[in-house]
Amino acid sequence: MAEKIRTNCILIRKQPYGESSLVIQAFSESLGMFSAIAKCFCRPPQNKAVLLNVMNEYEFILSASCSNGMHTLTEFSAITEFPTDLPVENWALMQAGIELISKILIPAHETPQFYDLLLKYLKYQRGIEKNPVAIFWRFLLHLYKLLGIDIGLPNCSLCHGLMKQPAGFETGTGRPLCADCLPKVGSAFSFSPEAAEVMSVLPMIGNYINDLEIDAESIRQINHFFLYYLNSQFHNNIDLKSLHYYKR
Ligand SMILES: [Zn+2]
Repeated sequence: MAEKIRTNCILIRKQPYGESSLVIQAFSESLGMFSAIAKCFCRPPQNKAVLLNVMNEYEFILSASCSNGMHTLTEFSAITEFPTDLPVENWALMQAGIELISKILIPAHETPQFYDLLLKYLKYQRGIEKNPVAIFWRFLLHLYKLLGIDIGLPNCSLCHGLMKQPAGFETGTGRPLCADCLPKVGSAFSFSPEAAEVMSVLPMIGNYINDLEIDAESIRQINHFFLYYLNSQFHNNIDLKSLHYYKR
């Protein structure tokens, strides 16, 4: 008989499989990212598929796969359910957090810390009324620390001096630079004065969330910086579809 696994999970994706089943992808506190088949979940009278919503946290009972790596979801119960009528921006940013976690490689023994960080972020983000993107950036700062690629703010990555605000970042490494160092590197991206101002409070941005007025261009530049930095550190090419919300 297949081994039973009981684990808390955040549902990442669900899609129909055959006439009456689902394939789900979830991020588990103990297993990390995994896929499972939910047989007959779309079949009346129960139609359990409608009770499974992306982003929610569930306790899953899985029947472990011995061969093809695909577990079978047998039972579930909701632990944390997020409202379905969240503001679009908050929703997009919560999706961006989930999307990012699903695209990075997480060391198996560190999965619980990443799970905890993501869940806290989702819970916090759902209640934010102003500048929800700042909470996303704060999440990224924590995430990068966990990944061992701390950005090192508020210090300049080249001269290591304390910066009032980063003037931009070095192309190639994504590392932030002060105004003195920016012209010294071969190729760099310069922040607009408005984006640099927001960057100056980034390490403590939670404290300023209600005082900041963040324009759309600054959001684009800072999102670009964060993704550029991550991709440079890991030689990846991650794009977050959820952040296309800001490209409209
Ligand atoms: Zn410098």
